[in-house]
Amino acid sequence: MQPQLFTSSLGRLIGASLLACSLVTLSACSKNEDTARQKQIEEPPTSTEGAAGTADQPEKSAPMADKGAPESGVDYHSFANTSDYVVKHLDLDLTADFDNKVLKGEAILDIKRLTQKNPELILDTRDINVTAVRAGMGDNLQPVKFTMGETDPHLGTPLKIKLPKGANRVAIQYQTSPGASGVQWLEPQQTAGKKHPFLFTQAQAIHARSFIPLQDTPQVRMTYKATIRTPEELRAVMSANNDPEAELDGVFEFEMPQAIPSYLIAIGIGNLDFKAMGERTGVYAEPELLEAAAKEFEDTEDMLEVTEENFGPYRWDRYDLLILPPSFPFGGMENPRLSFITPTVIAGDKSLVALIAHELAHSWSGNLITNASWRDLWLNEGFTTYLTNRIMQFVYGDERYQMEMALGYDDLKADLDDRDDKDEIMAIDLRGRDPDEVFSNIPYEKGSLFLYELEQKVGRENFDKFLMEYFNHFAFQSITTEDFVKYLDQTLLKQYPDKLDRERIQEWIFNPGIPEGAPQPTSDAFTKLDPIREQWLNGEIKASDIDTKGWTFHQWKYFLDGMPEKLSEDQLKELDSAFDLTQSKNNEIAFSWLMIAVRNDYEPANARLEDFLVSIGRNKFLRPLYRNMVENGKTDEAKRIFEKAKSGYHPLTVKVNSKIIYGD
Ligand SMILES: [Zn+2]
Repeated sequence: MQPQLFTSSLGRLIGASLLACSLVTLSACSKNEDTARQKQIEEPPTSTEGAAGTADQPEKSAPMADKGAPESGVDYHSFANTSDYVVKHLDLDLTADFDNKVLKGEAILDIKRLTQKNPELILDTRDINVTAVRAGMGDNLQPVKFTMGETDPHLGTPLKIKLPKGANRVAIQYQTSPGASGVQWLEPQQTAGKKHPFLFTQAQAIHARSFIPLQDTPQVRMTYKATIRTPEELRAVMSANNDPEAELDGVFEFEMPQAIPSYLIAIGIGNLDFKAMGERTGVYAEPELLEAAAKEFEDTEDMLEVTEENFGPYRWDRYDLLILPPSFPFGGMENPRLSFITPTVIAGDKSLVALIAHELAHSWSGNLITNASWRDLWLNEGFTTYLTNRIMQFVYGDERYQMEMALGYDDLKADLDDRDDKDEIMAIDLRGRDPDEVFSNIPYEKGSLFLYELEQKVGRENFDKFLMEYFNHFAFQSITTEDFVKYLDQTLLKQYPDKLDRERIQEWIFNPGIPEGAPQPTSDAFTKLDPIREQWLNGEIKASDIDTKGWTFHQWKYFLDGMPEKLSEDQLKELDSAFDLTQSKNNEIAFSWLMIAVRNDYEPANARLEDFLVSIGRNKFLRPLYRNMVENGKTDEAKRIFEKAKSGYHPLTVKVNSKIIYGD
């Protein structure tokens, strides 16, 4: 995923003398509150007992933190008793009721028994209203007893099902809550077209349980089939075999033949059209966004091909993109066969397409080889961040590669300044915490830097060979950090004992911070901007004299983010008139400029600021802007805009920013 709640290019400041402290604070602060799962529950959580009464099995209590180190391979964020049963296949039949904002229908789970005994089957749910459960063998399913256990604030509510002996299939009738943490219902005015409603799900990390009762752990992989029923004018798409030709008749059938973990199950419903970009790639989007998206992301097919050439076959058939409405709170989500993407990266010049490379790379790291628990997230995101940089280099060349690497490194350093030691460890201890808290630059950028060091030490060619074999070796498996280390022992460490040692590996994975002597990616394209900025600040040159021809968005951001905290009114006007920053069409550049404008009371940008906050729901932008407003005495203005905009925000975005603005 690119939650992009934590990465802020504000952290991408190198010139220490020019570095504004408040920017750093803003860039990496409060990750925890921001990613705390939204829990806007409009209906009370269901704790209904099954009509048939209470099962008599002993309770499995919520896996809570205990003493000592977390156990490798244990998922502390699921109630599921996966050592007794494993779900192998899911059959889903859901109706999207836009009036009541609920999904209702049935989930049928095919289960494999791993025990001779007949314990209860325990599934994960959150705010789901289960109305009936049947179980049995094959098509012979009979009503069975079930109970809802005690609700845990992070984990939801276990659903306990008494199975008949030998049963290998369970059918659960249920309906979601309008406040389901993994489902967003958008009103027509929140979409690009403004005529039709829209629905999308976001299951990572543990939100699948809010719309499907299942074993919601990345250790369990299942295939699925689904029937999604929608209002007739809308199209449903899933992380499965989408058919762009499917008729708009209110019923859509899907099949996902490759086994995936639950957090990769995804549904999107809206007024969606399709446009092919290449043989295996295409875009689903509202008609208003379709052409621009297909143009912006037209290199996706090339990205797919170079990744295959270098890291092994793409094993998911098609790779399509679903462009979500602007209120999507994240950058993107790697739902297999169909990545979910924010429209805010449609910049018109492909400057922000690293996001596509990132989501595509997950088709290898994450979706093919999956973290066994959220502690091991760095195996998903560190590898993916590393691959993203490589893909950007293959497709756009060395300079772009250097810049992306340097920006990532600066993000990491900013994040490290702001974190507790224990949260700087790649294999993080998340017991008793919301797993959404693990999404920081540590698994992403530290993970990537670690792999970059391995590459530097053994040589790129050798490292690529290793990667290709790694993806092949663990394909379609969920692995732990320890599985990876063991594999490393048997491969690279054995092959290159003079270049690598185990102690160093341990230090990277299990110690806080960046090990001494680690690579420090920089980019000449950035460092040459420092003296220019300085000269302008010293009044030695005019803004209009700066030759910005050929500057990429990365350079613009670097240039702006490195400005000191305070600029004079004249300086602001000079910059704005030379570069038309208030009107920038690039959301990242506009964001950097608005941050400067807010903290310097630059009035001419106020209208753009309001428009930006109202029209975009991406938390990466909103959170720092609102925080900046509050810190600069503009709380009333922040409240006014927030109240105007909030009906268009994702519940998570509302929660996070309301906390910033109202302080509760
Ligand atoms: Zn990711």
